[in-house]
Amino acid sequence: MRRVFLSVVLFCVIALPLSCVPRNYSRTEFALGTVVQVTFFANRVDSDEVFKKLFSVADKYERMFSSKRSFGEIYKINSSGGSVKLDGEIYELLRHSDYYYKLTKGAFDYTLYNLISLWDLEHLKASPLSGAIDEALVHSGRDKVKFDKSFIRLTDGVKLDFGAIAKGFILQKLSDTLKDLGIHDFMVNAGGDVILSGLYQRKREWNIAIKDPFGEKEFAGYITLTDATIVTSGDYERYFVDETTGKRYHHILSGESGYPAESGVSSVTVISSDPVRADAMATALFVMGADSGLKLVNGITDVDAIFIKQDGSIATSARISQESRGGRLFFIRK
Ligand code: AMP
Ligand code: MG
Repeated sequence: MRRVFLSVVLFCVIALPLSCVPRNYSRTEFALGTVVQVTFFANRVDSDEVFKKLFSVADKYERMFSSKRSFGEIYKINSSGGSVKLDGEIYELLRHSDYYYKLTKGAFDYTLYNLISLWDLEHLKASPLSGAIDEALVHSGRDKVKFDKSFIRLTDGVKLDFGAIAKGFILQKLSDTLKDLGIHDFMVNAGGDVILSGLYQRKREWNIAIKDPFGEKEFAGYITLTDATIVTSGDYERYFVDETTGKRYHHILSGESGYPAESGVSSVTVISSDPVRADAMATALFVMGADSGLKLVNGITDVDAIFIKQDGSIATSARISQESRGGRLFFIRK
């Protein structure tokens, strides 16, 4: 009897704590047009089920929000030429997009599809002709988009593109999905746009490296944080080089000039508790540049930004401090 009792005690002492040690689960797949890496810490789950669910959610929204693929809702709206009934989630995306258009005075512009498809970076060898750019700009602008909760109508040939905000929206959905499954300590990294929750190994906040936009160093710096999304928009992500002039053209466009934004910035990293806000603002701040971008950021809540300028200097919003110790460290003052 004593021996049984001792065995039970021994079992409890050894096995119970072991079962409480969180396991590290990780999977990387191609999704959302990029490499998506999911890492989480949990005490025994059917990780295959979790990953299957997660990547099916990513796939669902990617299809829904695509402006290029014929099965997408946005594609349908763009090719409609009349009133189209709005799905609830498309309405949400539109509502957020319209808000950021207004907040950034059009630096974030979801009505630029005509211009974006003209700047077909995969196939162009030189800048499009200025006449074609002017023509695309005539058919853009939020004054040509009428929508309410139920319907949308596009006028004057305007078309929509949500490439600068959809990933943020989808990161929110992936985070919601993980939390619904009882997982709270995780990171989802969609091609460098990262949502974080809880603690790494349930012990400490997450360390996130910020890429060196010039490709010279391994990274430009890093920041330690949690329960936040960190998104970077940079001119090094997608571009082509004109073979004759050697000029480089990247994928973030100015709705004013019709050309890739030239704001003196190479990358903008944005941190927010709201992934939609982080994604939309990173693109907008890239277009605005450091001076007017920082004025905006320092006057609103829940956005912090790190600008890496083309001359290599760094400018940060008021709540972020920097320290150089070998690699650069960034802190958010709480
Ligand atoms: P991101 O990588 O989040 O900065 O988004 C860039 C993508 O958003 C581009 O590939 C375009 O599809 C789209 N885009 C480009 N310029 C703008 C802009 N000024 N406002 C909103 N979306 C844009
Ligand atoms: Mg963006």
